Amino acid sequence: VEGRSLNFIEEFIEEDIRNGKHAGRVHTRFPPEPNGYLHIGHAKSICLNFGLAKKYGGKCNLRFDDTNPAKEDVEYVDSIKEDVNWLGFQWDAEYYASDYFEQLYEWAVVLIKKGKAYVDDINQEQMREYRGTVNVAGKESPFRSRSVEENLDLFTRMRNGEFKDGEKVLRFKGDMTSPNMLLRDPLMYRIIHTDHHRTGDKWCIYPMYDYAHGQCDSLEKITHSICTLEFEVHRPLYEWFIKELEIFPSRQIEFARLNITNTVMSKRKLLELVKTGLVNGWDDPRMPTIGGLRRRGYTPESIRLFADKVGIARRDNVIDLSLLEFCLREDLNKRAERRMAVLNPLKVVITNYPEGLVEEMDAINNPEDETAGKRKVSFSRELYIERDDFMEVPPKKFFRLAPGQEVRLRYAYFIKCESVVKDANGEVTEVHCTYDPASRGGNSPDGRKVQGTIHWVSAQHAVKAEVRLFDRMFLGENPEDVPEGQDWKINLNPDSLKVVTGYLEPSLAEAKNLEKFQFERIGYFCVDKDSKPGKPVFNRTTTLKDSWAK
Ligand code: ATP
Ligand code: MG
Ligand code: MG
Repeated sequence: VEGRSLNFIEEFIEEDIRNGKHAGRVHTRFPPEPNGYLHIGHAKSICLNFGLAKKYGGKCNLRFDDTNPAKEDVEYVDSIKEDVNWLGFQWDAEYYASDYFEQLYEWAVVLIKKGKAYVDDINQEQMREYRGTVNVAGKESPFRSRSVEENLDLFTRMRNGEFKDGEKVLRFKGDMTSPNMLLRDPLMYRIIHTDHHRTGDKWCIYPMYDYAHGQCDSLEKITHSICTLEFEVHRPLYEWFIKELEIFPSRQIEFARLNITNTVMSKRKLLELVKTGLVNGWDDPRMPTIGGLRRRGYTPESIRLFADKVGIARRDNVIDLSLLEFCLREDLNKRAERRMAVLNPLKVVITNYPEGLVEEMDAINNPEDETAGKRKVSFSRELYIERDDFMEVPPKKFFRLAPGQEVRLRYAYFIKCESVVKDANGEVTEVHCTYDPASRGGNSPDGRKVQGTIHWVSAQHAVKAEVRLFDRMFLGENPEDVPEGQDWKINLNPDSLKVVTGYLEPSLAEAKNLEKFQFERIGYFCVDKDSKPGKPVFNRTTTLKDSWAK
């Protein structure tokens, strides 16, 4: 955004440019692990990395951090690419950490030869014991003093598949007394006899994040490697390997990860919701995944606006979900065409309107955008209005329909309630009205005032649709904050989905998947992929106003 001050990452970059570092080149990357679908937190990182590259005339790579075959899959790779594109970004190059397995292996050999790495045989439990705690210095493993020759031999045999999972690891000789626990001889390689989605059974040893990430950045000559704050304590390792291997010095910069109220974002937890069937897949419109937001009716523009408004922080914080919805309304207000739809119908019969007559009323598609033009809406003797727009015994200042009271039908006529029909339980089933033929278009020649305007659909023309009304998925601002021993899923909102039958303007029957509309006076809605010809399904993207603001 023009005009705002630089964030701290931009300040770092501009300082590097001023100092002529890397000849002023800016090269970032977005490095997802293909072990789940992207969420709004990733969107923040995508907007940041691609945005910086764009701003400084640089490049941004898409790199899959695929170093753990047990959890990763091409299904996720494909969805990640789709989501990045959908958000409006094109990567300059597509890479996979697995592209570098051979190089990483050779570098591990270099470190073994330098006496900096060793094969360790102690098991996980012993490893924990030897590592010590923050307050207790660790002890060196008895295998740390293995000769270079023995380490080279064992590492080769690890690669050749001579050992079982967990039997041996390759470790870096760090400092077993360091206050930074990560530096106490970090693992470089572990044995996993699992096929990898790209390299198949070529490898049975896989590099750890800390051993792989910096070198991958370095190989791609990434200048600024942006990650979230929890990696700050990993930075010494990032720099260590680069220095030991004397390779291109990429620089790691950390920023605060995005957290949003009433939302869980960890892929592990989202996967749990999918696996347990508590949501209908990764793209359930209640999910904070990009796919879920898209299906819900979010636009890429609204998400980019949000990422921009959130800004870049150095400290962890929690952003109110209403900011995301605010950005959505900002965007949809400008571009979503207006339609009339009744979600809780009450029949109105206009007793003095000729039977069989159908008039075509002019309706404005978008008051915010003249180029959107107009459309015709059929009007007839029997209509549906919103049940809430009628009250038999109205309070003061109820400007909608009530016995003896007049109201304006949007784009049509004034009508006045003359009587009601009730069922055996006393519930109003029909409202009988008269209309003023002179008020067509919404004004009466005698200039009399009618305060309220309500929407309607013609009963004989209306199209029935399944309408899914979503609410926030979790109750409580911080759903992960649960009493000791309780499951975080207790905070799920049991009413996050309500399904109703709506009566829509007939033009909506033809709407295509993901098409977005404002249902006048109700909210923003979008066509769901479950729609079938003649059986439309709409998702409520959001209400018109922040309905749960305090
Ligand atoms: P999760 O913890 O949700 O599984 P992750 O960090 O393990 O996320 P990755 O696939 O490794 O997921 O993330 C790819 C990139 O997106 C990383 O650079 C990571 O820092 C960034 N990222 C992930 N979550 C967020 C977030 N909530 N806010 C900002 N950036 C994020
Ligand atoms: Mg990660
Ligand atoms: Mg993770």
